[in-house]
Amino acid sequence: MRILISNDDGVFSPGIAALAKLATEFGEVRIVAPDFEQSSMGQAISPSRPLSYRRARIGPFEAFRVNGTPSDCVALGIHHWAKVDVVLSGINQGLNVGNSCWHSGTLAAAKQAALFGVRGIALSAPSIEEHGDYDLLVPFARRVLDTLLTKQPSALLHNVNFPLSPKGLMWTKQSVRHYEGKVIPDEDPYGRTVYWFAAMPIEAVEPGTDRWALAQDLVSITPLRLDLTDQQCLAEDTRRLAF
Ligand code: MN
Repeated sequence: MRILISNDDGVFSPGIAALAKLATEFGEVRIVAPDFEQSSMGQAISPSRPLSYRRARIGPFEAFRVNGTPSDCVALGIHHWAKVDVVLSGINQGLNVGNSCWHSGTLAAAKQAALFGVRGIALSAPSIEEHGDYDLLVPFARRVLDTLLTKQPSALLHNVNFPLSPKGLMWTKQSVRHYEGKVIPDEDPYGRTVYWFAAMPIEAVEPGTDRWALAQDLVSITPLRLDLTDQQCLAEDTRRLAF
């Protein structure tokens, strides 16, 4: 199995090395990732400037650093490596649940794979740089990869999130709740006003969702689709607001 690994934290993130090490248990691994952090860049691509890459040293792995977004990396990786079976993205330093899915570069890399018809799996955890190491997560990440890589799940795209100390695994749906997109003014060293855009969920967690699973210390696995169409509204408005 050919496993292409990317992320949005940059090629030198400890999360990508941990993921690559685990992935070698399932197949041949190659890392193609952004040379700088691209968190919250979503599925941006770089169609109006050239991309290039250089080799990087990430342990024993064949690795390349790209001057582009996570989606650019996946496109280059799939272009250069024939018959990629799966793209793994992560392990992100920070969860990607609920509305974060709209902003996440980690998830976008997996989505980019699915757009090419290749299985895509995004993996995220609370920041390990702040909270310790990956030792507690690895056995659960192994179970996730075993399920998603060897047991033919129905969906092509999955979003996986780990609590710091997992107790089990759970299939979930994305929690889409209203959030507070707070803009907070601050001052830069030159006295000029700058702004932070911080988006926090403001509604309670709903059972069965990704946020709920994490609150129970369960690993959340959400199957996703690329079609954003609201089928219920389409059916209703086709009838009620017919042209
Ligand atoms: Mn990130």
